[in-house]
Amino acid sequence: MALSKSFLKLLKERQTNKNGTQKRLKKATKRLFPLSAERKYTAQLFAYTLQIRKQITEKLLPRLNSWFRATTFDYPDPVDSTLKLDDIIDDVLEELLRVLEIIDLDLQPSENLVVQQAESIGFEVNQFNKVQFEKSTKSVLGVDIFEEEPWLETQLELFANQNSQLIKNMTENELQRVSGIVQRGLQEGSGLESVTDNIEKSFGITRRHAKLIARDQTSKLNGSLTKLRDQELGIKNYVWQTSGDERVRASHKALDGKLCRWDDPTVYYNENSKKWVKRTSAMTKVHVSQDVNCRCQALADFSDLVE
Ligand SMILES: [Zn+2]
Repeated sequence: MALSKSFLKLLKERQTNKNGTQKRLKKATKRLFPLSAERKYTAQLFAYTLQIRKQITEKLLPRLNSWFRATTFDYPDPVDSTLKLDDIIDDVLEELLRVLEIIDLDLQPSENLVVQQAESIGFEVNQFNKVQFEKSTKSVLGVDIFEEEPWLETQLELFANQNSQLIKNMTENELQRVSGIVQRGLQEGSGLESVTDNIEKSFGITRRHAKLIARDQTSKLNGSLTKLRDQELGIKNYVWQTSGDERVRASHKALDGKLCRWDDPTVYYNENSKKWVKRTSAMTKVHVSQDVNCRCQALADFSDLVE
């Protein structure tokens, strides 16, 4: 724990009335979600997916016509045609591979850029989270808290590495999917139109994937930082706070307002029995923001520090 004994004593004194009774703890300000960082990251990833789309549209789509013509026509001799067709398909597939390699190479600068941007988003989420933490501690304890954050560098590095990997996988998935679409189209003899349709759909998949990365990664980093900052301060418990909109899943809504423990995400405090009990089957068994797309927040419970 980062807080010194003398500082804790001071906090306790501030929370005690002259006659020795406990003051009621002030309510912590609501912690906000780093929405602007998420929006910025989404926009950056979208811009990158547009680059992927542009590369494929400019370098691969114009080739499709001749590839499909080469593998659909010009077989006057049905006996020889099978062998000939296989050869032609092999040649076309080789060309396809070359085109994809070029696209991959040409995407590198944009990919490097968005990977760098992801790293900056990590810093931005951290800044936002720190301010939220400081506001909530100040609102309750009435003093500014400065704590050591020996884990911070590792967290931000982890975020940068993980996001770099996710972005690289997203690129690879898109290129592989497009490659598969073209190959199947050639081998099964489906029309050029259905192939271009499927490639268009594939762009949509990548765009949705980009949005998910931005949302999920922002939220997970923010949640991890909240947990680490709280625990560094010596806070053991938090109140689960949903975002309150209609998208909150039932298993999170079931925990809304409940006291939870940072050291065990499978329990909550039951107000009736006054005991820590196992979460029910209707409740998620992870911490706030660890489920995909979760926007819930952890509201620190300061009572341990001052009572
Ligand atoms: Zn949630």
